[in-house]
Amino acid sequence: MIIMININDKFNLKVEHDHLYIGDVDANDIAEKYGTPLYVIDEQKVRNNYQKLYNAFSEKYSKLHMCYAAKANTSLAVLRILEEEGSYIDAVSPGEIYTALLAGFTPERIVFTGNNVTNEELEYAHKAGVMINLDSISALERLSKIEGTEGKEISIRVNPMVEAGHHEHCITGGPKSKFGIREDEAVEVYQKAIDLGFKPVGMHSHIGSEILESEPFMLAVETMMNIAGKVHTDVGVDFKFLDFGGGFGIPYEPSEEPLDLEKFTTDIINLFTEKLDEYDMGRPEMYVEPGRFIVGNAEVLLTRVNTIKESYRKFAGVDCGFGTLLRPTMYGSYHHIVVANNMNAADTQQIDIAGDLCESGDLFARDRPMPELKEGDLLAILNAGAYAFSMASQYNSRPRPAEVMVNKEQVDVIRRRENFSDLFNGQVVPIRLLK
Ligand SMILES: *Cc1c(COP(=O)(O)O)cnc(C)c1O
Repeated sequence: MIIMININDKFNLKVEHDHLYIGDVDANDIAEKYGTPLYVIDEQKVRNNYQKLYNAFSEKYSKLHMCYAAKANTSLAVLRILEEEGSYIDAVSPGEIYTALLAGFTPERIVFTGNNVTNEELEYAHKAGVMINLDSISALERLSKIEGTEGKEISIRVNPMVEAGHHEHCITGGPKSKFGIREDEAVEVYQKAIDLGFKPVGMHSHIGSEILESEPFMLAVETMMNIAGKVHTDVGVDFKFLDFGGGFGIPYEPSEEPLDLEKFTTDIINLFTEKLDEYDMGRPEMYVEPGRFIVGNAEVLLTRVNTIKESYRKFAGVDCGFGTLLRPTMYGSYHHIVVANNMNAADTQQIDIAGDLCESGDLFARDRPMPELKEGDLLAILNAGAYAFSMASQYNSRPRPAEVMVNKEQVDVIRRRENFSDLFNGQVVPIRLLK
């Protein structure tokens, strides 16, 4: 009993009469009305996460912009909320630039950080008028050949040889990472950018994801500031902005502690301003690019238990799989799971929570301590706001679920449930094969 209350507090869950509430609405009523599986996002939590992080940074350094990393969750309604909050956007593809523009972000508020981009993609980003973070010398040279890029303001992504992340696939700095240019070639590359006719005004790095402590991030800030300082001194680049990427973590496991925002932002801003002074760089804008931190804990995935079985192990089978939430299968990630219709029940067993896809890796949890489960129970998989729908697929010809947004007592569908005909979008059968 005591443990469950702590868990509900830990994940900031609202519980009434043993039921999980999202905003002011019973999750069981939402599931009844809109069906399962269902992503349910809480608008107020998105706004609070944004404001909490923004305030923590901007109280200490006012020239700050948060560029929401759209790839975490590209739902238009979510982007609209962040547009209203004053966020900028970190887009990693032309599709995300298009989406952000559609959601009402002006080009000045969009930063494009592509990777292995084609000439067409560079041209698209250039014409859209967004800031481009170039990831390689190749991209720099190819952009310079596009008409109208003479004198263009650009930024360059450096790899500061610092690794951080919860899984090898999420480490985006360091010697094995495919991202950015080497730190020891930065001076040369910025000089080259100038020689090619560009006006370099920014530097970018992003070292990884799910960072829960200051240290790795501080190391990246320090390294990047030394690189930027050297570029400023040797090449004479006056930086308008320095972009430190995202990666701010959230607790997924009950034992994990949230990021200490006060300490984290104090440490970073102190180091940042010290370095600015050391290299006499004035007061450029600071950009950060949070994705997971803004949306991760704002959304749950509701899924119903349809099968309890004991074969060689004990399984609770649910009505979605890794096509709906890939992280456990792809990264071995832990997602806490609660019983939305029985929130205060104590754990009495260890059980595997299995999806409905034909793959043995399709498991949400192995040997998970859970209360007694029965068919018809409604499970809420927590922290399903980031890298959930945005990584979803129709694998096994499973149409993707709907997504609803709750704002206090209001519930709106923000993405309709797919149906079978959505499985054939864009497909064509050659006439010779028609019957
Ligand atoms: C993915 C990504 C982010 C956001 O990462 P989070 O871990 O979700 O904060 C920020 N910047 C870039 C360039 C990214 O690729």
